[in-house]
Amino acid sequence: MVVRYLSNYHVSLPVFDAMNPYLNPWFLLRILKAYLFDIDRLKRFSAQDLQHFQNKQIRKQLQFTLTVPVYQKLYTDAGISVDTVQSIEDINKLPYIGKHELKNAYPDGLVPPRISRRHLVEVATSGTTGKSLAIFVDQFDIVMGLFGYLRTLREYGLSWRRNRISIIGDFAPHTAESGYIRRGLEPRFKLGFLFKNIQWLDTNAQPTVVMDELNVFKPDFIGGYVGMLGHLALLKEQGKGEQVHPQVIASTGAVLDPQLKNFIEKSFGCPVFEAYGTTETGPIAYECHKGGYHVLSDLIHVEVETQGKPAPIGSPGHLIVTKLFGRGTPILRYTAINDIVALDPQPCTCGMPGVMIKRIYGRDDLSLLLPEGRVLLPATVAGIYSRVLYELKTTKLTDTRLVQHDEHTLQIQIVIDHSQDDIGPSVAMIKKVLLEGFQEKLGPAVTISVVEVDTLKDHERRIVTHVNPTDYIITGYV
Ligand SMILES: [Zn+2]
Repeated sequence: MVVRYLSNYHVSLPVFDAMNPYLNPWFLLRILKAYLFDIDRLKRFSAQDLQHFQNKQIRKQLQFTLTVPVYQKLYTDAGISVDTVQSIEDINKLPYIGKHELKNAYPDGLVPPRISRRHLVEVATSGTTGKSLAIFVDQFDIVMGLFGYLRTLREYGLSWRRNRISIIGDFAPHTAESGYIRRGLEPRFKLGFLFKNIQWLDTNAQPTVVMDELNVFKPDFIGGYVGMLGHLALLKEQGKGEQVHPQVIASTGAVLDPQLKNFIEKSFGCPVFEAYGTTETGPIAYECHKGGYHVLSDLIHVEVETQGKPAPIGSPGHLIVTKLFGRGTPILRYTAINDIVALDPQPCTCGMPGVMIKRIYGRDDLSLLLPEGRVLLPATVAGIYSRVLYELKTTKLTDTRLVQHDEHTLQIQIVIDHSQDDIGPSVAMIKKVLLEGFQEKLGPAVTISVVEVDTLKDHERRIVTHVNPTDYIITGYV
């Protein structure tokens, strides 16, 4: 658990799976078609083409979804039929679906009865909040997810066949990455030659071990979680990983603090861009070379709502997602991503059509409610923690937990790696940086304390609040 503390949640990097369908010529043809035509689709599309395509996809997806038991019941009760949705705008006629409904329907209710679950891969969201959700994805889903990710490589002039790619994924047993790789790709390694340029590393390993592996592989591209990338940047700055000179780094899994981003870019001497995705949906958005944060609008439809209504463009609200492809568990108007985001009214200068994201604020179910209606979001918390890394240049801080007893009292629990006692800043110094960081954001009305604890359990929530959210009126985000 060395690198987790900057990641407020884990998302899957969409990765390749090579189960038997790959030996089926029809399936391979579909992939080839997808590779040749779909991968650059969004760049090729005009705004009108995109809308036309989305209209077609949502109708197809609804037709399929109506055969999936969990949705069948929900939609029948709401009087939904295939004709309810004619265009993407009609999507608001469909009811929302949440984590609770999907969990209750596991496993039989999540896929059509005619599809055998043996042909699907089960993936689970990771349980940082203690509640994990399992859903099913099909092989083509995974390929399209990968293609969504490959777009980001192409955006930066890289190719998964020509360039060396290191993916530092979450290979804990229950995660989506393990589903795709450990239970999918590895047991059928005969197709591994296709991926000889891809190195898979585990984000749960020690950063020094990961750095050694990178040093041998010499990747052109590194994709990983924010926390691990921060640690690697610090190691790089200390002279480790001499052979590691990536052209591009992609960060995922948590909101990347601008100063931490700057630190990683300086250490490795290459640009860092953000990719955003979830286990349930695959890739959602990525940063283009002009810095625009583009939703992959041909694969995913996003809505942002606040208090039951669409949020004005540019204002923060809850993210609701619809996956426009896939034959596993459909994701239609899914509310349980629990991220607060704001959309961007400005189109990007790169000319790619579709929705733009202005800012991702992070998980709203990991927020703290402060005096006077202010809400502290995980993005800000991560920003404070990351100062320890780029200001104090230490990896001694290995885990953290916030406990809010009431609006006016916050305790920061920290776990320190005492094997590093002889080097770097003192524990008192680390406490001071955290205390000042939080005090600056929360203001004098909140009493803050920092205490060292021996260890934190994996399943324990890292942000705990005893403030009752009922009747709490939000006036702004910190
Ligand atoms: Zn752009």
